[in-house]
Amino acid sequence: MLKKQTHYDVIVIGAGPAGFASAVRCAQLGLKTACIDNKRDKNNLGRLGGSHLNTGGVASMTLLDSAKLYYQITHEAATHGIRAENISIDMPKVIGRKDKIIEDISLKMVGLFAHHKVDHIIAKARLLSDRQVEITTEDTHLKSSLSATHIVLASGSKPIKLSCATIDNEFIIDSKTALNLEVVPKKLAIIGAGVVGLELASIWNRLGAETVLLEAQENFLSLLDQQISGEAYRIYQSQGFDLRLGARVTSAKKGNKKVTLEYQDQDGTHTLRIDKLIVACGRKPNTADLAAPEANLLLDDNGYVYVDENCRTNLPGVYAVGDLTLLGPMLAHKGIEEGVFVAEFIAGLNNPINYDNMPSVIYTEPEIAWVGQNEQALRAAGEPIKVGIFPLNSTVRALAMDKTEGMVKIIAHAETDKILGVHIIATQASELIAEAVLAMEFSASSEDLARTIHARPTLSESVHDAAMILKDRALSNK
Ligand code: NAD
Repeated sequence: MLKKQTHYDVIVIGAGPAGFASAVRCAQLGLKTACIDNKRDKNNLGRLGGSHLNTGGVASMTLLDSAKLYYQITHEAATHGIRAENISIDMPKVIGRKDKIIEDISLKMVGLFAHHKVDHIIAKARLLSDRQVEITTEDTHLKSSLSATHIVLASGSKPIKLSCATIDNEFIIDSKTALNLEVVPKKLAIIGAGVVGLELASIWNRLGAETVLLEAQENFLSLLDQQISGEAYRIYQSQGFDLRLGARVTSAKKGNKKVTLEYQDQDGTHTLRIDKLIVACGRKPNTADLAAPEANLLLDDNGYVYVDENCRTNLPGVYAVGDLTLLGPMLAHKGIEEGVFVAEFIAGLNNPINYDNMPSVIYTEPEIAWVGQNEQALRAAGEPIKVGIFPLNSTVRALAMDKTEGMVKIIAHAETDKILGVHIIATQASELIAEAVLAMEFSASSEDLARTIHARPTLSESVHDAAMILKDRALSNK
């Protein structure tokens, strides 16, 4: 039930990772807090977690785990001497498992709101002027308003649409529908070989779909360390991804239960006929109807909310966190940190975020993870650097697991030895990167990593060994 004209210390708009974290932290700090989100589940109950949980990162990673298991049984078990015959896949059950995990996580989040006495309001919120928020309940369309001393905008982002490939969610689908297919497409194309495109390709390719990725840019994963992106390109190709770079999709039309797609590259125009087309070409902030015009919330030309270094918008007492701003990359953990930071800032604390040590992960297999600067950027800036690289195929644990593809690359300042960047492509790189983030947070040198004892046999030895190589102290000849 909505309480009309209730005043809160803090109203958070959006219950994705950033908004949820902010609301819980505000409540922990003794602030009377409401969090407004209009997402509902199939039983019409409020659904927390935003796109990251429900249709993005968590959903995708959960399906990838199923796909990896299927692939292991069908393609990798034999090398262990394990015979697996007549293996089949029940896609509705795979999707059902993913949905159940998401539901359980959301229920835990509901429990945390109740525990911390955050008012969860299931409605659409719109920022008005003078720290007022209009709320509209979707079933009754009733409007009312709430006021707050502080307002945190955390409405997240959504996939960008392409005018040349209109989503019908049957044949031409977005990344959300791509996580709910109950039949594995025989031939699949994905527009965009960015993070989302690669993660979806990793799922459907493993489940048996012939997968073509069409990427407009000539350079593959251009933001990554070039050595890592080069290795990733080679590995993905060897896994059967058909990666076509410099390929700009110009049209996609459905007909006869197929999609006919045209793209252009340096050789001219090409046509593909596929069963499904996924559009994964970026995300944009959810700001279209976030604020009434009279609120005068300042956005940039691309719809991002303008914020200063403390996540403050142009309006007094109004903050924006997560995917809404350009303060850092579109990452769930960045949003969580900002949500917590803003809650503490409101409560009079100031614990700034170190954006320089923000880890990034691409959840494929092997995974790619990195923190800090890459080699080409450091060389372009004229920094004197030393590089240590350790290949996974020399790591005992990786050999035992038969997961020998990839490398760990550590870059340190040539004079001070301070670690400037760590780049990993390896199975479980998302876990391995945590050590590098911690080391950099403590301003560690590569010597510190090299002298830190790592358990044997573990994958983390590859981080240690890359540091040993950087210090010219390698025990192996790699
Ligand atoms: P992206 O920008 O990383 O990749 C989209 C790609 O599509 C680009 O490389 C672009 O060149 C290409 N493209 C656009 N139009 C095209 C066309 N007509 N033909 C061919 N190619 C075209 O976007 P994304 O992968 O959708 O990810 C969106 C955001 O969400 C990113 O900021 C990403 O970091 C974030 N995200 C992160 C994770 C994670 O942390 N693991 C997971 C999902 C999303």
